[in-house]
Amino acid sequence: MSELQFVVDVPEEHAYLIPLVFSGSQVSSLIRDLNSIVLSLLYSDERFIPRVNKLTIGLKHFKGVAFTSGSAVMLSSEYFDHIYTQSKELHGVLVHELVHVWQSNGQNTLESGVIEGIADYVRLKAGLVPSHWKQIKTGKWNAGYNATGYFLDFVQNQAKIPFVQQLNETMWNQPWDPSIIEKMTGKSVEVWWDLYQKS
Ligand SMILES: [Zn+2]
Repeated sequence: MSELQFVVDVPEEHAYLIPLVFSGSQVSSLIRDLNSIVLSLLYSDERFIPRVNKLTIGLKHFKGVAFTSGSAVMLSSEYFDHIYTQSKELHGVLVHELVHVWQSNGQNTLESGVIEGIADYVRLKAGLVPSHWKQIKTGKWNAGYNATGYFLDFVQNQAKIPFVQQLNETMWNQPWDPSIIEKMTGKSVEVWWDLYQKS
């Protein structure tokens, strides 16, 4: 397991969040628990899991919710200042960002809509759905985030295979091509999207 590092850089008015987010040894066990949920949903075979020597979780002052760069997950103190009372939201955001640490990206060819869709699919499967999420069936299947996350879950349920895990593991050493979905499931992504819209 990776070494965990915590960094904090927040203005004084957000300092009260530090003990709430990084509450002693609890945060280490929380991150380890969330990591194992994420890894079990993304991988069936440990050989495909990237090596991460040091995982950083930070709390910083910036606009937005959170972002991940390499193996550093940064949470926005401004965002959590407003919603901290909802620990489910903190856990949900952490799960989404931890997916970015661990997921395969087809050697940087996987499109962002699918990357974000897989991250929200994992958040969905982890039981951390926020109240504002909706199953959007208009627009494009690869619009990203929960719109794509719910669609990936539909394909998985209908195809009756661990589709998202297989897609992620395939992206370990193959470039992204939407035809991979047809190879795995027997139906093209367009056919799946049509079925989803009618469901
Ligand atoms: Zn994301």
